[in-house]
Amino acid sequence: MTNGTGAEVVVDLDAIAANTAALRERVRRPLMAVVKADGYGHGLVPAARAALAGGADQLGVAVVSEALALRAAGVTAPVLAWLNGPGADIAAALAADVEVSVNATWGLAEVVAAARATGRTARLHLFVDTGLSREGAPVAEWPGLVAAAARAQADGDVVVTGLWSHLAYADAPTHPTIAAQVRVFEEAVAVARAAGLTDARRHLANSAATVALPGTWYDMVRPGVAVYGLDPLGGDPAAHGLRPAMTVRARVALTKRVPAGAGVSYGHTYATTAETTLALVPAGYADGVPRAAGNVAPVLAAGEQRTIAGRVCMDQFVLDVGDAPIAAGDEVVLWGPGDGGEPTAQQWADAVGTIHYELVTRIGGRFARRYVGSAGAV
Ligand SMILES: *Cc1c(COP(=O)(O)O)cnc(C)c1O
Repeated sequence: MTNGTGAEVVVDLDAIAANTAALRERVRRPLMAVVKADGYGHGLVPAARAALAGGADQLGVAVVSEALALRAAGVTAPVLAWLNGPGADIAAALAADVEVSVNATWGLAEVVAAARATGRTARLHLFVDTGLSREGAPVAEWPGLVAAAARAQADGDVVVTGLWSHLAYADAPTHPTIAAQVRVFEEAVAVARAAGLTDARRHLANSAATVALPGTWYDMVRPGVAVYGLDPLGGDPAAHGLRPAMTVRARVALTKRVPAGAGVSYGHTYATTAETTLALVPAGYADGVPRAAGNVAPVLAAGEQRTIAGRVCMDQFVLDVGDAPIAAGDEVVLWGPGDGGEPTAQQWADAVGTIHYELVTRIGGRFARRYVGSAGAV
């Protein structure tokens, strides 16, 4: 349970379940909970089970190995793995009853070959690029991909269960690209339906669209970060009925009194202005605490939020707590839900110049992960 330093990432499974339920209630249609990247740093399998306990209808991951890890843990819910490059183990996916997505005819050919090799019918989603210029099929290639998929469906090798795309600007709900992407998506759906792919679910909405853009909900929504209680719009998650599921804590490893003018940590980018107490926190950039947090990010220590003093090192950083009482072993909180006086991941993101997604997915290293709550526990 501990790594010897007391640094831990505490994950509230009940919050994940309640967030999922709140999102599901908002959209009143099927919801795919995205649990890629180790459940956004919350733990793949526990996060998946908690989301399912909260009413998620299916799970989404980036790569096949993540889907197989869910199956190996006994998770039987529908799972989609969508980022399949050449040589992805589609046969293993089909054997484990994992749905796959393709964005090119060569990818479809790999799926058909895997279906024949395994004797399975592949449950297939077709991904169209409606303007993100990322992993969907270009619109120019879409009719060819759709026609090939319709043939594969007629041959019994695949059944097309999804038609989907991804938004570039869902976190800016009035951005003109949204209407443009919706238009392209609807044209792409019409092309697929005309080719006979009439039973597929349409899905477009990530977390931001799930909370802000009802016109993008279609037949299923696909939230990730909101499931973990973070506001995809960068505001207060409580405004959407969400609660952050992750708390990151550590324990002070050493304290010392120093005089005014003491340079702190590498490069002395911070210097004390009076005699003061420094507290050493044993967590650093090797654990996913961004080096850019030095001199900017807040930490709750000795009853107040205090900015990290000087550079974040590989294994540790320093706080200047003034004359506040603090001792080795005392708890410090990097981020959490925010209702116990601690900073939030959003505050950290704003301080460091990143997004909360990056913070929660990268925190790890020597932090121990501990689960609280019972949703989905086996
Ligand atoms: C990661 C991802 C999602 C979830 O995005 P959030 O912003 O976390 O809700 C949905 N769809 C695709 C294609 C993704 O890559």
